[in-house]
Amino acid sequence: MSLILFKENGHTGPRLQCDKYGLIAKEPWDITLCWDGGEPGPVIHPLMLCDDCDQKSGVQWYTQETGVALIYLMNSLHMTEKDIQAARKSAELLASME
Ligand SMILES: [Zn+2]
Repeated sequence: MSLILFKENGHTGPRLQCDKYGLIAKEPWDITLCWDGGEPGPVIHPLMLCDDCDQKSGVQWYTQETGVALIYLMNSLHMTEKDIQAARKSAELLASME
């Protein structure tokens, strides 16, 4: 999975990148989690693919929208409103860094 920090117009922020050809997604929903379901054991290593790479792969992937996956993960963190505000301040600080 490719969560990267991307510099643009003097700001730095987290972005998602397609694992196949490196497209940097403008929006999280431009990338989909994809996996083939064939990995043995409980751990699955999904690919993050843009729609173009997903469709050209010819693979019948299991998929999950990235936004849904991130919300599920955030919900699992049991963050309080105070935690979310602190995270927002940290994100703003990160975005202001060059
Ligand atoms: Zn791609």
